[in-house]
Amino acid sequence: MKEDCIFCKIANGLIPARKLYEDDDFCVILDLGPATKGHALILPKEHYRDICELEETVAAKVLPLAGKIGKAMKKGLGCHGFNLVQNNGEAAGQTVLHFHMHVIPRYENGPRIVAWEPGTVSEKEAEKIVEAVRAEL
Ligand code: 5GP
Ligand code: ZN
Repeated sequence: MKEDCIFCKIANGLIPARKLYEDDDFCVILDLGPATKGHALILPKEHYRDICELEETVAAKVLPLAGKIGKAMKKGLGCHGFNLVQNNGEAAGQTVLHFHMHVIPRYENGPRIVAWEPGTVSEKEAEKIVEAVRAEL
């Protein structure tokens, strides 16, 4: 646990939160500033800053859990779909530096979120991008 981390404290029960689910590895809570009704956060109990630090054994459990929560939201809240959002780094909008996955229920005619305007990329630029990333894998 990291001393000054709010999500460490919440995930380990030191600060109260509305809990949807808990097991040995994770705590799932309602977001304090929900994008839509039922917006939840999957928090590992161990501190990892972001996905780059996350242990593979823990990472492997995140998607199955997100699916389980989303499925329960569809049944329990009547949402029609859900988004999984996971920000890494301040440049990407991460404000709490403890890995978390957002599970955001989506309702027909609900607010438009998680959207961007499609850009463009030239053939040459695309080739360079592929080379630059592949070289680091
Ligand atoms: P990020 O932008 O880092 O991906 O998302 C952080 C999320 O955590 C935000 O949606 C914010 O509303 C939520 N949040 C921040 N502090 C607290 C808190 O103390 N309790 C809960 N339940 N949610 C929080
Ligand atoms: Zn933490």
